[in-house]
Amino acid sequence: MLTFPAINFREWSGPLTADLVRKPAKFGLGQLPARRMPDATTKAVCGFCSTGCGLNIHLKDGAAINLTPDPDYPVNIGTACPKGWEALSVLDAPDRAKMPLLHGKEVGWDTALRYFCDQMKRILDQHGPEAAAFLSTGQIMFEEMAFLGALAKFGMGMIHGDGNTRQCMATAVTAYKESFGFDAPPFTYADFEESDVLVFIGANPCIAHPIMWQRVLRNPRSPEIIVVDPRTTETAMAATQHYAIKPKSDLTLLYGLAHLIIQAGGVDQAFVRASTNGFDEFAAFAADFTPERVAAETGIGIEGLRHFAQTIMNGTPRVSFWWTMGVNQGHQATRTAQAIINLALMTGNIGKPGTGANSITGQCNAMGSRLFSNTTNLLGGHDFRNAAHREKVAKATGIPVERIPDLPSLAYDQIIQAADEGTVKAIWFVATNPSHSWIDQNEMNRILGKLDFLVVQDMYCTTETAKRAHLVLPAAGWGEKEGCFINSERRIGCSPKVRRAPGQALADFHIFRLIAHYWGCAEVFREWQTPEAVFRVLQRCSEDQPCEITGIEGYDMLRRSGGVQWPFRKNQHQTSKIQNSERRLFEDGSFFTPDRRAVFCFDKPVPAPELANDRFPFVLMTGRGTSAQWHTETRTAKSEVLRKMIPQDLMLELNDQDAAALGIRDGQDVRVISKRAELTAKARLTACVKPGEVYLPMHDARVNQLTHASFDPLSRQPSYKHSAVRVEADLTSISLQRRAGARTCVRPSSSQA
Ligand code: SF4
Repeated sequence: MLTFPAINFREWSGPLTADLVRKPAKFGLGQLPARRMPDATTKAVCGFCSTGCGLNIHLKDGAAINLTPDPDYPVNIGTACPKGWEALSVLDAPDRAKMPLLHGKEVGWDTALRYFCDQMKRILDQHGPEAAAFLSTGQIMFEEMAFLGALAKFGMGMIHGDGNTRQCMATAVTAYKESFGFDAPPFTYADFEESDVLVFIGANPCIAHPIMWQRVLRNPRSPEIIVVDPRTTETAMAATQHYAIKPKSDLTLLYGLAHLIIQAGGVDQAFVRASTNGFDEFAAFAADFTPERVAAETGIGIEGLRHFAQTIMNGTPRVSFWWTMGVNQGHQATRTAQAIINLALMTGNIGKPGTGANSITGQCNAMGSRLFSNTTNLLGGHDFRNAAHREKVAKATGIPVERIPDLPSLAYDQIIQAADEGTVKAIWFVATNPSHSWIDQNEMNRILGKLDFLVVQDMYCTTETAKRAHLVLPAAGWGEKEGCFINSERRIGCSPKVRRAPGQALADFHIFRLIAHYWGCAEVFREWQTPEAVFRVLQRCSEDQPCEITGIEGYDMLRRSGGVQWPFRKNQHQTSKIQNSERRLFEDGSFFTPDRRAVFCFDKPVPAPELANDRFPFVLMTGRGTSAQWHTETRTAKSEVLRKMIPQDLMLELNDQDAAALGIRDGQDVRVISKRAELTAKARLTACVKPGEVYLPMHDARVNQLTHASFDPLSRQPSYKHSAVRVEADLTSISLQRRAGARTCVRPSSSQA
């Protein structure tokens, strides 16, 4: 029997379910305004996270006045987390961008668009196609993303563009491509309910993906739930096994488990021989990861390691592996994700119900960004360097092939580095806020200050990045425009326009159309008149790809069927009703590599780039705070209801032993200091972090001033999970006598960690 830990309402962030659906007003949520009862309902998909919950939007005179979770949508089955419930209220914030702002002054769209095109053309003409770049987001619809990528690269002549999905999912993309031959998360949410063992690695779905956690709680098989996380997270508290490893020792742990499974004869030899390459080399490599070595490097005892390995080895029916940012945001993130994939492959846990090596994405359209943003991949998961792919996409889009560059984009961090070096001189940010969210934030802001032209296109004119922009283009938000998202389980869902955007804000889609017109390349995009027209262009681009969606009849079919998972090919819709069912990949043991075999990929673990030391004796980990908060809180901070559900202060999780050594009381102000910056937070004394480790939620704008900028060399994803800091009592907030007694903690010995 699974139970939630005791709930403190002020900090509670679990899902809101049945009673709230029936009586939302009782909880202050979803309260219908007096005398404004809905006269119609339409269906939408939530625009926050990658879970992709279905919402019923209640309309009065054609405009949204309220919403409730959709009981018929196969993802969430009538539940939603606090963010989903409040999705409409955040649209009413007073700081919505309502007019274009040029150097902080309101101007009309004509002036703004002329200025945008003049500046971009000047820079590209003078310095070449690599001098301007765009950086977008997994928050806009995938038709919009595709339009942005196509406009910038095929219309305006840029080479470089990336998105904030680099901070989130780049590792999973790189890992899947190399291991499976395509960026292909194999699972369906039904796997949460059909596993006998669920292994969560660097994932805290209770907080980060609460509706997925609801699916776990529906599992009727009394599953074993294993959590690998340095912290005792909410999910770890509910687990049957928790392995509180030392920060970033996950790769060593996973190789050690592989070794124990091989030693114990727990490999699914038939599957490995029939469907994979590289196992023998991997087995030889893993032999170095003896239990003694792994225990010393991870802090997990040998008996615990053996018990873990025994729980997941071949012979245990239905093991599924799930990971998210704790893995993706590491200095060897791709190899860590692949070490998880290796465990699934060697135990034969792939392509069957309740199994899989499953990366949970972050943003509502992260998967759409991965396939259709035209950034590092050519539209539809193609390769810019492949002439046949360029020809195919040219034919599918009707865009002359000579307009398609034969170079992929630089990655996000490389674009920023190029801006520092002066080769990139203009950046167009769309619906993302790197002045808050990028690692080593002060360095990012220093570099942004060097740009000749900084454009921000966003719903709000008050983001940290918008405040630095030369030009702000006001954009409509979720609910104020239509289009599709692709969720974590590859489900394409359609979301309608149910509100009018404020002032002169426009849908990103329409901003791109206007820019094409002002730039003089509208003819190139003559078919790209509506989001659904772009959807049809993208269907053609997807033909014969693993992500093919040519069988989807259009938006009507998506609305009728509760979304459709890719792949969905032309011949599928006439012969079956499977669009409503949950489908997983690799059921036939055939992968997307040239020889149809999955690949074992591995590398030696190396230490994190910034280790704790005498001056900075703590390892700082950052991550999600509560499920009422979303990333930089650009939207969620606008909801009065959500604000009531989060701590009022920035809280530093600090182990009681360290606090005692430092003379710090619970709730006391503390300074958290790294080589780069310092901030003040309140200490939360807890056994949920081990001695020598501290944790800060990423939502506070100051937190990324502390983080050390290191990147996974394969995915270029930033590593947010391992920075060295010092913690001190805040001398300005305590008495002189206490000041004299304050001291710095030394790093605990490894036996304590
Ligand atoms: Fe569902 Fe995510 Fe939206 Fe919450 S934020 S309602 S979990 S899609």
